[in-house]
Amino acid sequence: MKPNIVVIGSLNMDMVVQAPRLPVMGETLLGKSMQFVPGGKGANQAIGLARLGAEVAMIGRVGKDHFGSELLSSLQAGWVNSTGVKNTESAETGAASIVLAEGDNIIIVVPGANARCTPADIETQIELIERADIVLMQLEIPLATVTYAAKVAKQLQKTVILNPAPAQKLPPELLACVDYMTPNETELAILAEGQTGLEECMDAILTQGVRHVITTLGAQGAAYKEKGKTLLRIPGHQVPVVDTTGAGDAFNVGLAYAIGCGHALPDAISFANKVAAVSVGRFGAQQGMPTLEEVVHFSE
Ligand code: ADP
Repeated sequence: MKPNIVVIGSLNMDMVVQAPRLPVMGETLLGKSMQFVPGGKGANQAIGLARLGAEVAMIGRVGKDHFGSELLSSLQAGWVNSTGVKNTESAETGAASIVLAEGDNIIIVVPGANARCTPADIETQIELIERADIVLMQLEIPLATVTYAAKVAKQLQKTVILNPAPAQKLPPELLACVDYMTPNETELAILAEGQTGLEECMDAILTQGVRHVITTLGAQGAAYKEKGKTLLRIPGHQVPVVDTTGAGDAFNVGLAYAIGCGHALPDAISFANKVAAVSVGRFGAQQGMPTLEEVVHFSE
């Protein structure tokens, strides 16, 4: 059975520059290379899910420009249904400027058309939500749209997974609709508002109405908790690291896919750790997403 998943989120064109070191303020530096690669958490996760074999549709916005057409073509080439991604005249396609140097990076994201993805877009694409089992979202489109979509999804009795990145304070009406929330440790600390300690922070989020919190812990894997139950950890995998960009995206892909296949949460998290481990062994967020066969044959 193929899980049917709708991803509601961002699409960006990433301009990736490799440099010998990060420049200091006001300095002009000669770089090694520049590449334009499709990105944005929404698109990364949609492409990753389709690569695993899920039936995927995306809802979002691009500009009516060259980058916008390239991003739509890349979704189509990746077997993602892109009919829910609309052009907007009033803004340019979202873009990110990424400088990579000595294992460090500087990133500036310009949301552009992503900021024009409105609750009305959700309303016009409601059929895609109706057809799906799972709605997967991140926070790179307006919070009002994410909140509206989560409410619609819950009314339609869909499973809602929220990857709260980039972290920001979330309204109670959104939290009440979330079945699975997947922060990394930095995002968890921001969402838990003043709590310290992994379990205390996760409890703080559960108290706000979220049904399951799954915190990703980098190479350590992930921890999960349900209200009133003990915290459980699922270890990650020891792999040679090539590029951790998109590790969180790959984890969400694996989790949503496995939940969509009907796996119990510990097995779904274990699968997600594998998907993410394969992806950190490769270059690029979208390029690094594995096929189902690669995950199944993965070994440390
Ligand atoms: P983010 O990329 O959002 O900061 P994490 O760093 O927590 O999130 O990574 C997400 C997931 O990717 C982890 O839960 C783990 O499964 C996997 N992962 C991340 N870094 C590594 C690593 N160095 N080795 C193996 N797996 C990793």
